[in-house]
Amino acid sequence: MDLVALPAFSDNYIWLLHDGVRAWVVDPGDAAPVRAALVARGLGLAGILVTHHHPDHVGGIDALRALLADGNQVHGPARERIPQPFAPHADGDVLDVLDQRFEVIDVPGHTAGHVAYLQRDAAAPLLFCGDTLFSAGCGRVFEGTSAQMAASLARLAALPPATRVCCTHEYTLANLRFATAVEPDNGALAAYRERCEALRAAGAPTLPSTIALELDINPFLRCSVPAVVAAAQAQGAQGHDAVSVFTALREWKNRFR
Ligand code: ZN
Ligand code: FE
Repeated sequence: MDLVALPAFSDNYIWLLHDGVRAWVVDPGDAAPVRAALVARGLGLAGILVTHHHPDHVGGIDALRALLADGNQVHGPARERIPQPFAPHADGDVLDVLDQRFEVIDVPGHTAGHVAYLQRDAAAPLLFCGDTLFSAGCGRVFEGTSAQMAASLARLAALPPATRVCCTHEYTLANLRFATAVEPDNGALAAYRERCEALRAAGAPTLPSTIALELDINPFLRCSVPAVVAAAQAQGAQGHDAVSVFTALREWKNRFR
């Protein structure tokens, strides 16, 4: 299976997974880049996965529906309103994507019914996490609570280290500036930042990331690391526990320029 990040809008990626004949796309906010990629590679559209209801993730569904070999292969979060009709999914559901087994994981926080899709069987598992986890950052908490988002991120952090993390935005460099403010002495962060700057200078995506890498550099997955706890305390964290630290970091990031 091949995995391709299709750039959309100013900083979105629509992930395209294909076997040389059939393709699935994740969070097609815009139909145009998907259509162009299908034509360029001679692929047929076999299915669509959706993580949450925001327009930059669902805007292309209606236009792409006509291209689907099987119109029933639009899959989305059971607890969100996305363009109808779609197969509604919640935690623990299993679906077949290009003969691979994908599991649905509930990851509320960014939106109330946000889901992620995980292929667990492979040597390098594959995670489509929408706007929950970004490289070196995480999504804003728009609809859920801070505790929900912290729990969702903790679930993703516990996935196999080799899991490839397919985020839906190229926010890495901006996130790394914030992460560096949180942990100025984290050497892994400095090295990763250099690699990402080179990738972006060459016009290449910084994604997918991996869970192993995120555990080393993402402050939102490092809420129990002493340096991160101390930085959150300096920003007014109410306590030392993971949720207090996460909440203080998220609020700090919201106002960070
Ligand atoms: Zn979103
Ligand atoms: Fe988004």
